[in-house]
Amino acid sequence: MLVSAGYVLEEDLERADVVIFNGCMVRQKAEEKVFGRIGAVVEEKRKRQVVLGVGGCLGQIHGAALLKRIASIDFVFGSSGHQSLPSLIERARTERVAELSEPIFDTELKVRRGNGVSGMVTITEGCSNFCTYCIVPYARGPMRSRPKDLILSEVEQLLADGFREVLLLGQNVNSYGTDQAKHGSFADLLKAVAQTGIPRIRFTTSHPKDLSERILQVMSDEPNVCHHLHLACQSGSDDVLRAMNRGYDRDRYTTIAELGRDIMPDLNITTDIIVGFPGESDADFRKTMDLIERVRFGSVFAAKYSPRPLTKGADLTDDVPTCKKEDRLGLILVRQRAIAQEENQRLLGSNVEVLIEGKTRMGELYGRSGDHRTVMCAGVAEIGEMVTVRVEGSSASSLSGCILHRENSGGEP
Ligand code: SAH
Ligand code: SF4
Repeated sequence: MLVSAGYVLEEDLERADVVIFNGCMVRQKAEEKVFGRIGAVVEEKRKRQVVLGVGGCLGQIHGAALLKRIASIDFVFGSSGHQSLPSLIERARTERVAELSEPIFDTELKVRRGNGVSGMVTITEGCSNFCTYCIVPYARGPMRSRPKDLILSEVEQLLADGFREVLLLGQNVNSYGTDQAKHGSFADLLKAVAQTGIPRIRFTTSHPKDLSERILQVMSDEPNVCHHLHLACQSGSDDVLRAMNRGYDRDRYTTIAELGRDIMPDLNITTDIIVGFPGESDADFRKTMDLIERVRFGSVFAAKYSPRPLTKGADLTDDVPTCKKEDRLGLILVRQRAIAQEENQRLLGSNVEVLIEGKTRMGELYGRSGDHRTVMCAGVAEIGEMVTVRVEGSSASSLSGCILHRENSGGEP
């Protein structure tokens, strides 16, 4: 929106005339991080004129109170309504202003994409699940599906622009279309996206309660759908899952994970875990550790629970002490690191298909395998090229090896 209004993106704070924070509210730490960084801009504003705007979920939840809390903020916007950002900035040059609305889903919003290799396409906005701890339904409104034809034309456009991968985005992609049956289900959408011929398709986040066997089948049948599922479990304890209002139990989670691996033996499952949800006992936590043992995730994103405003969780006593949350987090990280290392080791000597995404500062090529592992690649290839790599090294976080085959040369690198 800003680029089409004549603005130019500037990375350097010292050179920017307008600074905008698109702030996250999902965890307290994310929120604090934004406030910390706003501090640097407040300093800059002491030296010269800068227009400072704060928005996104952070603006949506705190609203005009932000103008009171931090005198240097010139304007506040919410999690939608970006179309009016250019006019809001102009107004903020003369008055301090907060412009908020109910979260709307601007399906026609123009998107500017970075790297030319992998592009994100939003398929649903918001969420209607109301997990006890989660602020997303309040910050972004109910789940709304984007029309299928708009999604498909955006994917076609990516393809025409030379992109090699699409990442379909939503808080719970598996519930796509449940609000408006005319768009069909997520499985139908995935199939239709696969038929555009884009070389790689990923999607996130999958929700265990809505992940159907049909989705797994489409993943297996369509060669361009990656064998990776980000399937947040949050906990391995039925009592905690119930208190979280997740809508599935441990048995459902393991059943769906096993079914996925029956259908796709090379399926990589990654997950999110919250430690220290109110009432989580040592016994509950042991069940989470046991789930990690059983499912053997490719990677785990674990976070300490923090109460979020407006949620039902905010009314519960945050009764797990911080040091206990930290201990639990540490136990997960150590065990998961060992599991990831073992899983990566099993790939030594095999060949993997890698989409080259970039070069490190040392000049080494890197990319991702279809199952979402980072692969460091020795040899020559173009960014955006698909190559075959023989895996010769592995660690907990990545694989490495030599390029055996390039799609562009049709032979040796
Ligand atoms: N829609 C996704 C999750 C989106 S939020 C899903 O349901 O899987 C991303 C992650 O942030 C969650 O999976 C959860 O692990 C974490 N998270 C959300 N709220 C949190 C809170 N109050 N405290 C700590 N972690 C939280
Ligand atoms: Fe939040 Fe995800 Fe639950 Fe929705 S499904 S409320 S986004 S954790």
